[in-house]
Amino acid sequence: MAATRDIDGFDGEVVAPDDAGYDEARAIWNAMHDKRPALVAYCHSTADVAAAVRHARAEGLAIAVRSGGHSLPGHSTCDGGIVIDLRGLNSIEVDPVGRRARVGGGALLGELDAVTQEHGLVVPAGVVSHTGVAGLTLGGGVGRQMRRLGLTIDSLLGVELVTATGEVVRVDAATNRDLFWAMRGGGGNFGIVTEFEFRAHEMGDLMVLATFNPIEEAARVLALAADVPVMAPDELLWTSFLRRAQPQPWLPPEWEGTLGVVSLIEWSGDLEEGRRVLGELAEQVAAPVSELAQVPFLALQTAGDELFGPGKRSYVKAGYLDDLSPAAIATLIEVASEVGSPFSQVEVLAVGGAIARVDADATAFPHRDAAWLVNIPASWVDASEDEREMNWARNVYRAIEPLMTGGAYVNFMGDDEVDHEAIAYGPTLERLRRVKAEWDPENVFRLNQNIVPASAEEVA
Ligand SMILES: Cc1cc2nc3c(=O)[nH]c(=O)nc-3n(C[C@H](O)[C@H](O)[C@H](O)COP(=O)(O)OP(=O)(O)OC[C@H]3O[C@@H](n4cnc5c(N)ncnc54)[C@H](O)[C@@H]3O)c2cc1C
Repeated sequence: MAATRDIDGFDGEVVAPDDAGYDEARAIWNAMHDKRPALVAYCHSTADVAAAVRHARAEGLAIAVRSGGHSLPGHSTCDGGIVIDLRGLNSIEVDPVGRRARVGGGALLGELDAVTQEHGLVVPAGVVSHTGVAGLTLGGGVGRQMRRLGLTIDSLLGVELVTATGEVVRVDAATNRDLFWAMRGGGGNFGIVTEFEFRAHEMGDLMVLATFNPIEEAARVLALAADVPVMAPDELLWTSFLRRAQPQPWLPPEWEGTLGVVSLIEWSGDLEEGRRVLGELAEQVAAPVSELAQVPFLALQTAGDELFGPGKRSYVKAGYLDDLSPAAIATLIEVASEVGSPFSQVEVLAVGGAIARVDADATAFPHRDAAWLVNIPASWVDASEDEREMNWARNVYRAIEPLMTGGAYVNFMGDDEVDHEAIAYGPTLERLRRVKAEWDPENVFRLNQNIVPASAEEVA
C-alpha cells in the first residue's frame, strides 16, 4: 500500500515515486545506496520536521534523516520509508561580538564558512564544503582546526531538537544535560536537530605546504610526521594521503596518476612563523613537487570539493593508531600501493592537540586519546569495480588492524561492521543506551550507527 503523502501540519514539499524529480530527490552523495523511499519530505521549518516525524510514526514508516546527504553507509536514505530532508533549514546567523553562530539543521559547511568568514570567524568543522553540518557535528567533527580548536562538538553550545514523539526541546549544558552529553558523539540517534548553536573562533589565512613524493620516498616522509600528535604545536596540522596523484593546481600534469604520498601540512597561527616552520619542513620532506603559500581559509575549504564530488560509489574503513611506528608505516605503504581507483586513498591524520585536552567523559566521543586517525575511503565510478575496490579497502584495514586501537570514528564507518556499537562508542555505550531508552525507547531513529535502547531491566 502506498504511503499517504498528505502530512498533517506540513508546509514543505513532498515527492513520491510517481512524481517528476523523484530520482533527484532520492539521490545521496554515495551512489552505492540506490534506495527507493516512499516519500521524500522537504521541510521548511521545525514544525514541518515535527509533522513529518508524527506522520512517519502514524504510518509506520522508517525514518531516514538527511541534511548534507554525505552518509557513507547510506543512512540518509531508505527503501519504502520517509526521507526527512532538512536542506531548507539552512539559515545562518552570526553574532560577531558574542562570537556565536546559530545554524539551521540542514546547512552545509560551505554555507557556514561563508557567513562566519565575513566576520573573520570559524566554527571548526570538516574539510569538504558540500558536507552537511548536522551529520558531521553529531558524530564529533574532525577538520583542519581540530588540533587547535578541538572537534566540532567541542564548540557546540546547544541544539533545538525534534524528538521521537514530535516534540521540540532545547538541549544544552543546562537543559537536558544527559541528552546534550549523548548528542556530542552519539550521531543522529536521539532526534532531529533543527538548529545548532556554536561558539565561533577567530580564523584568518593559513600557511600551507603541499608536497608530492613518489611511493619509494613515502616511508621517509611519513616518519617525519610521526611525532606531530605529541610534539608539534597545535597550529600544525599534517595529513598524509597515500594515493595516485590527481590534478592539483600545484602539481605538474606529468605526475598525475603516479603512486605516492601527498602531504598537506597546514599552519593556522602567526603567518611569518608558519612560513619559517613550513619552510624547514619543506627542506626535510624534500619533495620533487611542492608549494608553500599563504591560502585564504575559504579557498582551502573548497579545494577538495571537485575531487570529492557526489555521484561516485564509495566504501570506507577506518580506525585509530596510538603510534605511527615504522611497522605501521611499512604496512600502510605496502597495502595502499595495491590501490586501483584514482579516487581511492589512505588518509593518515595526526590528531591529538585540543581534542585530547577535553575530559574523556565530557562528551560521548570516546576516542580523545588517539594520536592517529587512519581513514580508508575507496571511491570509484563503475559498479563492475565494486568488489575490487571494497576488497582493497578491507585488505588495507585487515593489514593494519593488529596495530590499531580497536575503535573507529563513527562518521568514517561503513554499514557492514560486526559489533558496530562497540567499535563506534566503546566505553560510552552503556550510558548512551540509557539516554537512548529515555528519549527514543522504540528506536524510531534507527537509520544511523544505531544505539539499541537499554532494556527496562538495564535501566532499573
Ligand atoms: C566528501 C566527504 C567529506 C567528509 N569530510 C569529513 C570531514 O572533514 N570531517 C568529518 O568529521 N567527517 C567528514 N565526512 C564524514 C561526514 O561527517 C559524515 O558523512 C556525515 O554523516 C555527513 O553529514 P551529512 O549531514 O552530510 O550527512 P547525511 O547523509 O545527511 O546524514 C548522515 C546521518 O546523520 C544524521 N543526521 C543528519 N542530519 C541530521 C539532523 N539534522 N539531525 C539529526 N541527525 C541528523 C542521520 O543519522 C543521518 O543518517 C566526510 C564525508 C564525505 C562524503
